[in-house]
Amino acid sequence: MSATDPTLAAFDRTDQTAGAERKRLFIGLITCASVLVSLLLVGLWVVPFVGLSAIHPSAPWVFGVLVAAAIGVVGWASLGLVLNILLGRSLPFSRRLRGLTIKLFLPLMVLLGKALGISKERVRSSFIKVNNELVQHEAGRYAPGEILLLMPHCLQNSRCDMRLTYDINNCKRCGKCPIRDLLELSDYYGVHLAIATGGTIARRIVVQIRPRLIVAVACERDLSSGIQDTYPLPVFGVLNERPHGPCLDTGVPVHALELALRRFLASPPPLRSLPMAQGAPGPAAPGQTRSA
Ligand code: SF4
Repeated sequence: MSATDPTLAAFDRTDQTAGAERKRLFIGLITCASVLVSLLLVGLWVVPFVGLSAIHPSAPWVFGVLVAAAIGVVGWASLGLVLNILLGRSLPFSRRLRGLTIKLFLPLMVLLGKALGISKERVRSSFIKVNNELVQHEAGRYAPGEILLLMPHCLQNSRCDMRLTYDINNCKRCGKCPIRDLLELSDYYGVHLAIATGGTIARRIVVQIRPRLIVAVACERDLSSGIQDTYPLPVFGVLNERPHGPCLDTGVPVHALELALRRFLASPPPLRSLPMAQGAPGPAAPGQTRSA
């Protein structure tokens, strides 16, 4: 990928605009979540305060120092995340932010969003957006054989009888669904391509291929749970398109996917020239196609 690639630069600009709202939501929720965790920790200290002093006069203060340290870690991690989102820079000791976001903050943010009337979809979408930025900051560049493109089964045309789960090359490349374009993408870049019908199959594929990075396409729910399941393996998520509703003849913006993939390839070949009709994003598409 060239730093001066005009297509990629235009994609980045549109993607950044589309992602701003999701980032603001994430920052708001993560700030509330960290304040709640801190209040909980203070409660943990205050409630047994009297009982601890019966054990030893200094016991409440020792416990208090431990609670303050835990609050410091939560505060530092959330501040680190917010700065990372806003400025693209990490605070010292905050390298494992993605893990903390995944394990602690996402479940809390979903609960908090529910209490505030924000849909799970929106919270998960903001999480995927932030996860992608963290993955881009942390992940390196890889050989094609170290990258897996993991696709959902619902991309396949619902009237197609080919069994693709165990061998995607069973596809006849008729062009009635995006699988043909994805196979061409995988052939061109030499990356792995697989289709998963669910979490169990996805895990089996990951164990078999042992990629160092996954670029996954799915809906908000499956992407968030996939990112959680495979941590610490980095997963860059691309949201699918659902013109017929969930899980039926879904689509993927192949060109946007290609641009995402090129970010992680050590020495990508020239960008393929694809007709825009093959799912390439128009000016407003990256936000809509939600390369998250
Ligand atoms: S491209 Fe054609 S053969 Fe391949 S999965 Fe889609 S509909 Fe089936």
